[in-house]
Amino acid sequence: MSVPVFRFAPSPNGPLHLGHALSALLNADMATEAGGRMLVRIEDVDVTRARPEHERAILSDLDWLGIAYERPVRRQSDHAEDYAAALDHLAALGLIYRSFLSRTEIAAAIAAEEAQSGRAWPRDPDGAPRYPDIDRHRSAEEAEALAANGKPFAVRLDMTKAIHLAGPLSWQEFGDSLHGPGETIIADPAAWGDVVLAGKFTPAAYHLAVVVDDALQDVTDVVRGRDLYFATSVHRLLQTLLGLPAPRYHHHRLILGPDGGKLSKSKGAEGLAALRAAGSTVADVRRMVGLP
Ligand code: GLU
Repeated sequence: MSVPVFRFAPSPNGPLHLGHALSALLNADMATEAGGRMLVRIEDVDVTRARPEHERAILSDLDWLGIAYERPVRRQSDHAEDYAAALDHLAALGLIYRSFLSRTEIAAAIAAEEAQSGRAWPRDPDGAPRYPDIDRHRSAEEAEALAANGKPFAVRLDMTKAIHLAGPLSWQEFGDSLHGPGETIIADPAAWGDVVLAGKFTPAAYHLAVVVDDALQDVTDVVRGRDLYFATSVHRLLQTLLGLPAPRYHHHRLILGPDGGKLSKSKGAEGLAALRAAGSTVADVRRMVGLP
């Protein structure tokens, strides 16, 4: 019989902080309680930000927290071919295109639109402007010529077409209650516009890599912070287009910094390494993140 599978999936872009500790401990606690499996996945597809020393520090912090996870750990940078296969699948469905606009060109296109329409340009749930509708209308020949000339590009999802093909989508959300029947959440991937699926230096962007890996690793329960709640809409869309199963989702509360803002990897004070060095125990960390 299959057992529930949980995963903690840090990006090795910096040291772990208390928010990561909550996520990792919740995953491990729930896996133990459910008699399930606990995985750790290193999400290092963004090679411009990932560093091996951060990966080493993260695994050391997880060991210190007493989290037992299966080995070997999956490292996304070792699996570019899995993401390429998923991208091929989406290409065969006619759902992807190459986007060439630089940040400056995007800003200029949006400013021109706003001036003409007198209306603010729509932003995605993370607050970034949605990608302008320019490259989507390029002919295949024109896109090929630009790429052949060395113009850098990212691969994007044609959101309108993708939603049309997938139809209405939802997910099962267990939130902080973690028990009970859960709640059906209607997905709204349109809010994101044409998301990036792969970049110049990345074989797969976060959204693509995460759905491919969760499926390949048989993950049944995605336990992660509320900062990724809205991203789940994109994940449900990609899972549906790629014929992958839908896990259950538990988006947990976030740990805020003393200034009431999100903890960031660059701030040291709430870093696990700093707490360890200052003599904190695992029991202290559990108390600080509100776990029994
Ligand atoms: N790698 C992501 C992060 O560190 C988390 C991905 C996920 O849990 O889905 O924020």
